[in-house]
Amino acid sequence: MVWLVRHRRGRVLLAVVVLVAVAVAVPRRVFAPGWPPRDWVFVACDVGQGDALVLATGRPGRAVVVDVGADPAALDRCLDGLGVERVPLVVLSHLHADHVAGLSAVFEGRRVGAVAVGPGREPGWAWRRVVRETGEHDVPLVTVGASDTLTWPGLRLDVLGPHWIPAAQRGASTEPGAADPGADGTGVNNTSLVVRATTRAGRILLTGDVEPTAQADLLAAGADLGADVLKVPHHGSPAVLDRFLTKVGPRIAVVSVGDNSYGHPHASTLRTLRRAGTLVARTDTSGTVAVVADDGHPALVRRGPR
Ligand SMILES: [Zn+2]
Repeated sequence: MVWLVRHRRGRVLLAVVVLVAVAVAVPRRVFAPGWPPRDWVFVACDVGQGDALVLATGRPGRAVVVDVGADPAALDRCLDGLGVERVPLVVLSHLHADHVAGLSAVFEGRRVGAVAVGPGREPGWAWRRVVRETGEHDVPLVTVGASDTLTWPGLRLDVLGPHWIPAAQRGASTEPGAADPGADGTGVNNTSLVVRATTRAGRILLTGDVEPTAQADLLAAGADLGADVLKVPHHGSPAVLDRFLTKVGPRIAVVSVGDNSYGHPHASTLRTLRRAGTLVARTDTSGTVAVVADDGHPALVRRGPR
């Protein structure tokens, strides 16, 4: 090194070596070798505290996004890393900021087919923002509910809940705040859409932030909740019924969670899952997490912390 720096030719050589090293090293860091993993069917993006979930449709570059977190830049990076150019459907489980505030990211250089919401229209500011953002991009905003089914070549979505909304109110529930039992925080959580995704790696149950009331409603309604992979409700909150977890019976559980003051994920929830032999992955410690199809079965790939 000393000889190289002292001599003019040496300095030129050193500069060339450094430039080549940078040119080789930079793309590796930007594009992270081995990512996205082959045959990914489901990805929980590391967007901090919140949910931003991606489901492969079986068509390259096209994916369904369920919830969009609260950090648009983080979601944009995650979708870019997966090569997602088209989003035929965005599903917003419910209207809390940690599930909807990152919506602008999906429109960032991508074509979006539609945005789907459940029956809840609270909090009002979030609903107005979703209406405005979808309108600005000329993207249809649709309401889905229990027993609706949507299909793509490699993906089927069955909406299992929520169940609290009377059938007669469906479609008429667009008036903000009209007799909405979800006016307080817990109530809004119980308006979460619960969606079962059938993928090439098996079934994945997406639960938004459902609280015990909605979990009990699903059980009482006899919903077919059994799944290979569970997106744990409400970022691993302790408010989860043991009989709900037993009914789902997942092999893999994904907790989408970041820095928070709520104590998510709670030790009791993690313990219950692990005691049942479930493999648990958390986005706060493992970064973005993917489920891949391994001979028709789900396998877990952790990207590692950001
Ligand atoms: Zn949440």
